[in-house]
Amino acid sequence: MKYLIIGSCIAAAGAVEGIRSIDPEGEITVIDGEQRGCYSRPLISYYLTGRRTSSQLDYRPADFFAQQRVRIIPGRAASIDVICKQVLLQDGTGLEYDRLLLATGASPVIPPIPGITQSWVNTFYTWQDAEEISAQTAAKGTAVVLGSGLIGLKAAEALHHMGMKVVMVEKQSHILPRLLSPRSAAAVGGHLQRHGLKVVTGHEVVAVGNHEVAVDDGSSIAADLLIIAVGTRPNQDLAREAGLQTDRGIIVDCHLRTSDPHIWAAGDVIESRHIVRGTDEVMALLPLAHREGFIAGLNMAGSRTRYPGGIFLNAVHILGMHIITAGDPETTGSILRWQEGERCLELTMQGQNLHRYIAINIPGISGPLTALIERQVKIPESEWFKFLRNPAIANLPAAYWAEVRRWQDDGSLRCG
Ligand SMILES: Cc1cc2nc3c(=O)[nH]c(=O)nc-3n(C[C@H](O)[C@H](O)[C@H](O)COP(=O)(O)OP(=O)(O)OC[C@H]3O[C@@H](n4cnc5c(N)ncnc54)[C@H](O)[C@@H]3O)c2cc1C
Repeated sequence: MKYLIIGSCIAAAGAVEGIRSIDPEGEITVIDGEQRGCYSRPLISYYLTGRRTSSQLDYRPADFFAQQRVRIIPGRAASIDVICKQVLLQDGTGLEYDRLLLATGASPVIPPIPGITQSWVNTFYTWQDAEEISAQTAAKGTAVVLGSGLIGLKAAEALHHMGMKVVMVEKQSHILPRLLSPRSAAAVGGHLQRHGLKVVTGHEVVAVGNHEVAVDDGSSIAADLLIIAVGTRPNQDLAREAGLQTDRGIIVDCHLRTSDPHIWAAGDVIESRHIVRGTDEVMALLPLAHREGFIAGLNMAGSRTRYPGGIFLNAVHILGMHIITAGDPETTGSILRWQEGERCLELTMQGQNLHRYIAINIPGISGPLTALIERQVKIPESEWFKFLRNPAIANLPAAYWAEVRRWQDDGSLRCG
């Protein structure tokens, strides 16, 4: 059996592990577009500040692909011939497959702002971006970060650590708009400002000049570096041009197979099931990319394993503040809140079901709350009040502990 994987990062590593757990002999080839092997993007901010070395970015040991007897082909796939079952690389090489995985991830969105393609403007997405920014920031100065999502925040923190003056410009009314509510965002924004970062919300950058950024209120910011972090988009052109079904991401079935029976897809490039919303979403998250890759790999090797779906779950540590949020970011419902200084918790309930939580500086409770969302355990609001007076594991509602006992009895807490 000839397995071919386009992309060499998280979903690809999961797929190799999935295939090898069933098929120790098959021939696996990975097309490594970045020529960097498998590394962890969330760590590039630490690489930029020198807190991690290049090898410490690795998601798997450096000899992982060799150990798994995987042939690595440096280069980029240019097209897929689904009739001949062949992938053509940009240099003209053809690679045949019996089973193909698209693990091509996503790329940063570049907004159509006049002047945005200048050399002092960067994205913050790859190890190469980190190296280019590092070369540009030797002189310190001011950095403007466009967008205040997770990636923008990580970039801002790194540049602040490097001694730059940082201004974040967010067009929505509050920072981390996809993850936080306005009140929890105010707590995070206050924290950033106390550390000396400037946060401008409700405004857009409308033009980029010579080391100058024009804002829609008529003001301008002199800057040495501009980082674009306004979102990402799945790399699905190969799939679309090959005639596979796509929408906001590649469409897959519950076995992560695309509309072509010989092609699977996993990671940031697909739409997958959000188990609370019951809809298919692009969920660009590292743990999901690995799990999807693993299950796609099992199925490529002949298994019929269902992918159960996932939820949005983000954990970010920013200038000493721990922010964890999970569930449906767009949910509406009744909100239960607790706050004490810089620690706060927000639960959004739909009837008796927890649909989302935001926990700031309360890291220990994320496991149980995430499990309650994933399993949609019913708990009346009144049972949350003791926990909300003191959000500690011991004060979780009695219904949670009853569920844990049930999970123990039915074996669903067992690993493997
Ligand atoms: C700064 C930053 C911080 C992040 N922080 C978090 C976090 O805290 N938590 C979290 O869950 N997630 C985080 N993420 C997201 C996480 O990194 C992604 O969800 C994960 O990397 C997705 O893995 P993937 O394998 O699907 O795609 P990727 O890691 O993007 O890998 C896809 C690979 O395919 C290659 N490729 C694309 N097209 C081709 C082609 N035609 N030919 C050959 N190769 C190709 C790409 O170059 C890339 O190397 C962060 C991302 C960034 C950038």
